[in-house]
Amino acid sequence: MNRHRADTPESGNYDDSHRAFLQAFLSDPVKPVEDVVPLIAKILTAHEPDRQRLVNDITQPIINSMVQAVNAKIAALDFEIRSTRNQENRTLTYALVNTTSDTFTQLATSFSPDEIAYIKRLLDAMFEINNTKAREIMAVKGMDATNLAKAPRNRQSQAVDADEQAAEVDVNVKSIKHEEADKVLQQLVTQGFFQKSRRGWYSLAPRALMELRTYLKETYNEPPADDEDDPPPIIRIRDCEGCREIVTVGLRCGNRECGIRWHDGCGNQYFRGQQGGTRKCPACDTEWTGDVFVGERADRVNSRASTNGRSSMRTRGEEEDN
Ligand SMILES: [Zn+2]
Ligand SMILES: [Zn+2]
Repeated sequence: MNRHRADTPESGNYDDSHRAFLQAFLSDPVKPVEDVVPLIAKILTAHEPDRQRLVNDITQPIINSMVQAVNAKIAALDFEIRSTRNQENRTLTYALVNTTSDTFTQLATSFSPDEIAYIKRLLDAMFEINNTKAREIMAVKGMDATNLAKAPRNRQSQAVDADEQAAEVDVNVKSIKHEEADKVLQQLVTQGFFQKSRRGWYSLAPRALMELRTYLKETYNEPPADDEDDPPPIIRIRDCEGCREIVTVGLRCGNRECGIRWHDGCGNQYFRGQQGGTRKCPACDTEWTGDVFVGERADRVNSRASTNGRSSMRTRGEEEDN
């Protein structure tokens, strides 16, 4: 095999080390940075045995150039190695993702059509049912997740707000068994799409946030209103004011009509920079209390609209969490 085709700029540096790097992502598509660093050290050392690389030699520019060279090669196949920061601890995760907006085509290789329909019901539960103006939980509790195994029978049984959604209900979708649902959930966790918290909530893991970014916004955010008289579009998926990535775990402005969201770390960084005085939302000037949450913490807080929540029985009146 001819390995010396360094004739175009993009492929100029592509060698066996990049092939090995891509290979590692093909066999395991989600890698935290603490796995990527020793992987690159090992690959480069194998590539040039005379020049041993240690973990400390692998700088961010080396990682970036490895990723860029691979991405130039695989872009035509609609794949890309992306990175995102964990919303809570800000650590980097890398993932080989499909860049086409139709992520479900890719899931179809591991799941049946009825299972895919189940996964969509899980997403609807996270981003519609458990994501209201009063409570942006954006997660689904273990038992509720299992119970979604049952497909809605007809339009009447659909959520009330789902006029639009009802049109999309496929009457051919069949329920799956509870055990099958648990297996799908398990697989989604193993594949790095979902994560399960200690309190038993399923939410989107970094890989899903990278792959489903477009899908989530297209599905759960309404397009801008055509007419001034139209009601403002419903926006259920919002980006962080700091890092501009989706927030499913973080903080929100206390003003329910305000669209400002932060990851905890991004918000703390911003408000640390604000010396003295009252901390205020940069968009609406509402006092920033830092205790209005996005994510499963929103379920525990005695929501300001306690009459509104159908899971208010779970409310435990904890106002402070950190
Ligand atoms: Zn952020
Ligand atoms: Zn605000």
